[in-house]
Amino acid sequence: MATIQFQDIRKSFGDTEVLKGVGLNIADGEFLSLVGPSGCGKSTLLRILAGLESQTSGSVRIGGIPVDGLHAADRDLAMVFQSYALYPHLTVAENIAVPLTMRRLSPAQRLPVIGRAFPGSAAMRAEISTIVRDAADMLDIGHLLERKPGQLSGGQRQRVAVGRALVRDPAAFLLDEPLSNLDAKMRVHMRTEIAQLNRSLGATFVYVTHDQAEAMTMSDRIAVMMGGELLQVGTPDALYDFPNDIRVAQFIGSPA
Ligand code: ADP
Ligand code: MG
Repeated sequence: MATIQFQDIRKSFGDTEVLKGVGLNIADGEFLSLVGPSGCGKSTLLRILAGLESQTSGSVRIGGIPVDGLHAADRDLAMVFQSYALYPHLTVAENIAVPLTMRRLSPAQRLPVIGRAFPGSAAMRAEISTIVRDAADMLDIGHLLERKPGQLSGGQRQRVAVGRALVRDPAAFLLDEPLSNLDAKMRVHMRTEIAQLNRSLGATFVYVTHDQAEAMTMSDRIAVMMGGELLQVGTPDALYDFPNDIRVAQFIGSPA
């Protein structure tokens, strides 16, 4: 059963339709990349899936269940942004712990958390810090837990952002151009790591990039988008060998 199903998704901002009826099924555990030139609607589609934006029409199902109208926090997903969006005043450990802490507190208790990331009982803190350490070790940032984001390299910051998604243990990870702020060498290195994470966790990955070489090396399947429409969905080999549209051929064949 497909874990994520988009059905005829349309989205307009004012008079401009930026998604023109997108239909796509993403299988459980699949690594699917959404590629296409800047402005074609990739982020909007991902944000609709995440519940950060609502579609004008059409429906989204996760695990067969319609999630339209369901708040982002109530979808079994974690999103990683291009900008990382770390809390600058919190340590690495505290940044990674934020979703765990939030989940265990009542709304009234949450407010002070952003200034002081490990409230709650000693037992709760111990439980959280074990999960944080496991995630950090998995991402090779176990030695950086007491640092602040300002003291990290771009690659290390990106790992912290992935760590913060990891501890939520979601059914699906949504990544929006997560490597585009990294230098070329780190980008290639992180590609491999993210693809490995998909295999070891068994979670579904929806990966947005405008870099077709990146998508080619990481994905089970690639969905090529242009001007708010899906042109073709297929394995990297299938897209390479049998592009069904001249725009797909041009995009796949052009340098990033
Ligand atoms: P991509 O991620 O592929 O670069 P986006 O999904 O960010 O594309 O944007 C698709 C189109 O929608 C662009 O033309 C963009 O300017 C427009 N757009 C995105 N978000 C908004 C918004 N909040 N308000 C108005 N227009 C938007
Ligand atoms: Mg985008």
